[in-house]
Amino acid sequence: MPSFVIAEKCDGCKALDKTACQHICPNDLMVLDKEKMKAYNREPAMCWECYNCVKICPTQAIEVRGYADFVPLGATVTAMRSTEDIMWTVQFRNKEIKPKRFKFPIRRGVGEGQVKAFGHYPTGDGNLKSATLMCEPAGLNTEKGPVKFTAVPKL
Ligand code: SF4
Ligand code: SF4
Repeated sequence: MPSFVIAEKCDGCKALDKTACQHICPNDLMVLDKEKMKAYNREPAMCWECYNCVKICPTQAIEVRGYADFVPLGATVTAMRSTEDIMWTVQFRNKEIKPKRFKFPIRRGVGEGQVKAFGHYPTGDGNLKSATLMCEPAGLNTEKGPVKFTAVPKL
């Protein structure tokens, strides 16, 4: 299920040039209504539920309705991020059941903002436009990357 913004909790990231959810969404789905100063997901069908916006939102204004096997109908999952870890809270529809909380470290051995996105891949930033995809051939366990066809072979 796609992400959605709880309008009452969203402060529009206090009118920064780009909101946190706009910055992080890999599909460029989040937009800010500048009159109302509220963000929203403009194309829910394109959301792949990566939870990036959920994790980065400073006001916990974004939710993704989780799958029924761990978030039954009416339950919610929210994330509270610190520099060290993310605390996930699952609140069940039956509010008499205590919420369940899980805490996971954000990065292991690397401080906030210090991650080198492609540092540990065999290909680097300079190779991103080449025919070799990131982490190939090591990731695919092949000797060579893909071959780029320049002509249609005769049959
Ligand atoms: S990151 Fe959160 S607070 Fe900021 S604009 Fe998006 S939904 Fe609103
Ligand atoms: S869950 Fe991921 S793909 Fe969906 S809106 Fe949030 S950041 Fe974008």
